[in-house]
Amino acid sequence: MTTKDNVLIFDTTLRDGEQSAGIGLTLDEKMEIARQLERLGVDIIEAGFAASSPGDFEAVCAIAKEVRTPTIASLARCVPGDIDDAWEAIKGADKPRIHTFISSSDSHLMDLLRKNPEEVLDQAVSSVERARNLCDNVEFSPMDATRTDIEYLYRMLEACINAGATTVNIPDTVGYALPTEFAERIRLIKENVPNIDKAIISVHCHNDLGNAAPNSIAAVIEGARQVEGCINGLGERAGNASLEEVIMTIETRGDALGVTTNIDTRQIYRTSRLVSDITGFPVQPNKAIVGANAFRHASGIHQDGVIKSRTTFEIMDPHTVGWPSSSLVLGKLSGLSEVTRVYGK
Ligand SMILES: [Zn+2]
Repeated sequence: MTTKDNVLIFDTTLRDGEQSAGIGLTLDEKMEIARQLERLGVDIIEAGFAASSPGDFEAVCAIAKEVRTPTIASLARCVPGDIDDAWEAIKGADKPRIHTFISSSDSHLMDLLRKNPEEVLDQAVSSVERARNLCDNVEFSPMDATRTDIEYLYRMLEACINAGATTVNIPDTVGYALPTEFAERIRLIKENVPNIDKAIISVHCHNDLGNAAPNSIAAVIEGARQVEGCINGLGERAGNASLEEVIMTIETRGDALGVTTNIDTRQIYRTSRLVSDITGFPVQPNKAIVGANAFRHASGIHQDGVIKSRTTFEIMDPHTVGWPSSSLVLGKLSGLSEVTRVYGK
């Protein structure tokens, strides 16, 4: 039997998730979520963006000191002050990581940074070097990578890996990519960045067109070995890839994908509820994996099937994600056999 490759799960509920318009978490709330993410078994927790506010700095510090099993990351722009703040906040962790990012697309270079590509490349390299002098574990992200000139992207990734990046993240920052295009981009990066084998390829997909989880899985098929996302698909605008969807796709279709994760899937339901309760963002009833209807059967034909054998209409056992059980909902579509089962003859 061949062993399956491991896909690292990078949770950014406390950073990108907290960026969701309308969410603001206290230190205690962040700690509670971080402890549950540790029980869930995520590999990396992005605990915040230390330089962005004193509150973020304090939260990253506290999580780094207390949550021991996962790697604890702080986000940092490619500027010295951000990188130094990130390190100050995470240095108490058993496994600290600095995650530094800079824009790389023409649109961002011209309209956002107003710098030329060579200046930005130099800034990326010197920032990765600075981060690597402080911390052995450095992730680099070229922001808006899916709309970046691909030759420039190859050069930037190669230079940042040479400068010491141990993970290179390919963000679909604006949620624009199609699964086929995103897969192709990952494949081309593997073929054209000469030192790519010295870093883990990560992906960070946004859900503006509803493709965040499919894009993440398409990238895994091409060799990405870290997926970033949020519980319940929280995140900037329409959110990030829903980690529960990515995890259960790998769990359920692992034979087709040839990969696995370190996640304790039985903690998924509890994690989803906790994040929903704390953030005040409800989970839509028809949400995959964690929605109230995800394991509810309403049609009589489906109910009859599930009574006879669960697998007729269920591809996952609800217990594997920590649901109490699947349920049949008596309604206008239920047949006599379901009514008899519930109420007796
Ligand atoms: Zn993002």
